[in-house]
Amino acid sequence: MKVLKFGGTSVGSVESLLNVKKIVESCDEQVIVAVSALGGVTNQLLEMCDIALKHDEAWQPILNTVKQRHMDIIDAVVPEGAQEMCKQVIEQFIEGNLRSYYGTLQLNEDLEEVVIAQVRDAIVAHGEIMSSAIVSCMIEEATPHFSPKFIKTHEINGERRLDWEATEEMVKVEFEGTQEKRIVVQGFIAEDVETGLKTNLGRGGSDYTGAILAAILGADCLEIWTDVDGFMTADPRKDPNATVIPEMTYEQAQEMCDAGAKVIYPPTIAPVAGKGIPVWVKNTFNPTAVGTVIK
Ligand code: ASP
Ligand code: MG
Repeated sequence: MKVLKFGGTSVGSVESLLNVKKIVESCDEQVIVAVSALGGVTNQLLEMCDIALKHDEAWQPILNTVKQRHMDIIDAVVPEGAQEMCKQVIEQFIEGNLRSYYGTLQLNEDLEEVVIAQVRDAIVAHGEIMSSAIVSCMIEEATPHFSPKFIKTHEINGERRLDWEATEEMVKVEFEGTQEKRIVVQGFIAEDVETGLKTNLGRGGSDYTGAILAAILGADCLEIWTDVDGFMTADPRKDPNATVIPEMTYEQAQEMCDAGAKVIYPPTIAPVAGKGIPVWVKNTFNPTAVGTVIK
């Protein structure tokens, strides 16, 4: 079994989604696919919160744009027989959930900070909830699973952290022994063990979701599908001679991530390093490029 994580740009356009479909459907073994929100959507969801909190309704046209983008993508990538159902799901998330959350933020003068934070977390989870709905409708023989059921966080000294024990237990309950061939889950999103409220693993956290699942389930590898060919010797926008680093150790990758290489979310390395699971960084836009392997 392997775990494939697709980032925001990989699920952000018709062209890239069709590549995602090809990549996943050409895997012979069992796969778990973890997806980010469509590129830019997490930022938009948060920006709309800020606007609504100023009691301004200018979030409305942005939400309409977000909705239209998801619908247009469904038309282009989801097989015809599943399009209507998929669109209804998105309709429900946008109209049933998001529009009323933003309305609540806009129209209430005296919401407590804690409540605002909870609504914000509930809102931001919708990026991955909607992208995963589309991806699971798009890929043949895919079965959707809901990450907050098994990715658990808790608060330690006021800081949100992964609750490793609870997560390990719930991931095993959810997946051990499953014969499902292509499992689709949301990256990034989680649930607080105590309150049952939606939480998340922090910005960029979808990589971490992939690593957590790979480590707990003892996957053969974790593949991080992104929009660059791998870790590079230098920033290719600044240095035209930058080349892909074909192979790195976990320590080297951790150092580069900590130093600000945006390729992988830093907490991702530890769980897979602990189990000796190789991590491949691959380019959805250039799938035949070898990429970087971290091992
Ligand atoms: N969608 C989330 C973000 O933009 C998580 C991720 O993409 O990894 O931060
Ligand atoms: Mg990322």
